[in-house]
Amino acid sequence: MTNPLLAYVRGLPDIPTVVEINIRSGPNTSYALLFKLAVGTANLPVLDVRADDQGANLNGKTYQWMRVQLPDGRSGWARDDLLEISGDGTAFGYGVIPTRTHAFALARMTAVSPPVSPVTPPPVAPVAPAPAPVSPAPAPAPISPAPVVPTAPVAPAIPAAPAPGVARGTPTAIINTQGAANTRSGPGMNFDRTGVTLPRGSRYPIVGVQREAAGQQYRWFQVNNAGRLLWIREDLVKYEGDTSPFGLPTDLYPAPMKTNYWWVRGYNMPPTVDASLPEHDGWDLGAATGEPILTGPNGGLVVRSVQCTKCTPDRPSTLMQGFSLGDPRIFADPGWGNGYGNFVIVRYTNEQLPASTRAALAGRGLGGAALFVMHAHLSQRFVEAGTTLTAGQPIGANGNTGNSEAPHLHLEVRAAMNPTFTSWAAIRSGVMDAVVLFSR
Ligand SMILES: [Zn+2]
Repeated sequence: MTNPLLAYVRGLPDIPTVVEINIRSGPNTSYALLFKLAVGTANLPVLDVRADDQGANLNGKTYQWMRVQLPDGRSGWARDDLLEISGDGTAFGYGVIPTRTHAFALARMTAVSPPVSPVTPPPVAPVAPAPAPVSPAPAPAPISPAPVVPTAPVAPAIPAAPAPGVARGTPTAIINTQGAANTRSGPGMNFDRTGVTLPRGSRYPIVGVQREAAGQQYRWFQVNNAGRLLWIREDLVKYEGDTSPFGLPTDLYPAPMKTNYWWVRGYNMPPTVDASLPEHDGWDLGAATGEPILTGPNGGLVVRSVQCTKCTPDRPSTLMQGFSLGDPRIFADPGWGNGYGNFVIVRYTNEQLPASTRAALAGRGLGGAALFVMHAHLSQRFVEAGTTLTAGQPIGANGNTGNSEAPHLHLEVRAAMNPTFTSWAAIRSGVMDAVVLFSR
């Protein structure tokens, strides 16, 4: 006889500071926190398994939740990325799991789970062992041509698809340009403008996502504007809702400002250069001077925090002191922060990055690389080099210092296999679109 299905609290091996996990009243993080369980807790009987009832997922794979029981009789729901399981999981669509295995890595063969009421968890049903044939498997059917006889339709085998979940909301595009955004009749700059412009802050259901062309950096979103389908380039919008069906990562970090910012321009470097636009190695996000600049993942380390000595409060930018934009003398001048004005560079080790970021790096031959993020043109810096940061911590304020023509954040991301920072110039070759880590 096989052992019953038992869970072990795995935690997040990449983040050893997580020493306990949350146990909730239902299968989604929106349910009440009942209690916590220490990483390493073992031999917890699994009473039930449900797909996340709001469809929460990692890279398109829906989280499963397991209702585990404690020896003292308490029970509650834990997410499968935090657990290992072993034993007979047949009743829940896992089959028999002989050795402890990361639960999230397993696929469930299951029909649709019924929705779970947020108030009353389902009664504890005894785990009925699924009928398992004890006898050897039947011999395979003969392959020789069978006589053609009309038969009743054969019931399809249970598909090994991830358990479907309920979407957390309609995938929605939110226009994030300073003014209205142009739309086109197809997914590329070569398609005609529709003449319909969409105002800043307006929201539209996303009905399609398509890359402009193979190798092109931008995807285009097809949105539904009161029945009319329009295409808009992805950098002009923010998005929310369950976008996983469109292959958009759902684990990126929020853009480094909250809501009071707008899109100015994006990353545009060879070989994906858009010839109609100037080369640019980062994102420019417009905002008022003083808007807080926030960090990405937990644990970032400030590797440089530099004051622009030639930037004055009343004339912070090179433009205001008589230089033209992009003057090469500015880039050579540390007094101007080499053009970046006041700036802060934060390092995230590979382990601190979201799974989709790590996968994207690995896909470029940069598996295990660290990311360095430049926050430039700040009016103020709130942190000094050597500071370890928490996720979303304010590290400075938006400004107009250095080679800048209006208050904005220049956000630039560079990858390096060596996590020890030497200089920004030394990791020039690792420059990449900030979309690898941040959502817009
Ligand atoms: Zn810039």
